Amino acid sequence: MQKERLDELMVLKNISTWIIMIFLGVVISFITIKNIGNETIYGFVLYVISIIIMIWALIFVIITQILILIFKNEKIYFLNYTQIKIINKMEYFIIIAIADFLKIDKKYIRRFFIKNNNTAVESLNKKTNKKDILILVPHCIQNSKCEIKLTENIELCRKCGLCGINELNKIKKEFDINIFVANGGTAARKKIKDIMPKFIIAIACERDLIEGIIDTENAPTYGILNKTPNGPCANTIFNVVELREALKQFVY
Ligand code: SF4
Repeated sequence: MQKERLDELMVLKNISTWIIMIFLGVVISFITIKNIGNETIYGFVLYVISIIIMIWALIFVIITQILILIFKNEKIYFLNYTQIKIINKMEYFIIIAIADFLKIDKKYIRRFFIKNNNTAVESLNKKTNKKDILILVPHCIQNSKCEIKLTENIELCRKCGLCGINELNKIKKEFDINIFVANGGTAARKKIKDIMPKFIIAIACERDLIEGIIDTENAPTYGILNKTPNGPCANTIFNVVELREALKQFVY
C-alpha cells in the first residue's frame, strides 16, 4: 500500500479514536460525579451536555438535509459556493469518520460530496481564461507498461493510443491548456502552489478527488471521476467527452 494511503488511513483512524475517547471521557466523568454523590453537579453537567449534544445534532441534521436537497436537485438554493464548500468539508470528515468506524463502504459517500462540489462550482457560472486553468490527472492514467516518464511534459508521449495520455495531448493542443500528471497528492499540491491556477479540473478516483477538492482553498475545483476497470491505481480511464464538456463550460 502506498505511503500516502496509509497516512490517510491513519488520519481517519485517529478521528475515530478521538471520537471514542471523548465519548469514554464523558461516560467516565458522569460515573465519577455520580459516585461522589453530588446530585446537583451531576444534574447540571447532564443538562449542559444534553443541550450541547442536541444543538450539534440539530445543526448536523439541518446541514445534511440541505446537502441532500442540493444533491437531488442540483441547485444551490440560498447558499453560495463558499458556504457549500464549508459545509461539504465539515460534513465530509464527520460522515467519513462514522463510516470508517462502522466499516461502511465510503465510495458512494465520496461521490455524493464530489457531485455537490461540482454543483457549487457550476453555480459560479463563470468562465476562466485558459492560461489560468490547470487540468490535474493521476499518473495511473498512463499505461503501466509505457516506458516514458511523464509529468511536466505530456508531449513526450509517443501517441501510441494505448492510454488516455494520447487524448490528453489532443486536448492540450486543441485548448492550449496546462495539463499536469500528478504522482500523488503532494505533487498535485506543489503544482497548484507553483502556478496558482484560478480554476482546476481534476480527474481522480473518489478518495483522491474529494480530498483534493477539500484541500484546495484558492481555486474552484471541478471533479471528474476516473474509472478503474483494472483495479485501483492501474491503467485507469476517464471520460474524454466529460472533460471536453467541462472545458467548453469553464474555459474561454
Ligand atoms: S499513449 Fe503515450 S503515454 Fe500512453 S502508452 Fe502510448 S506512448 Fe505511453
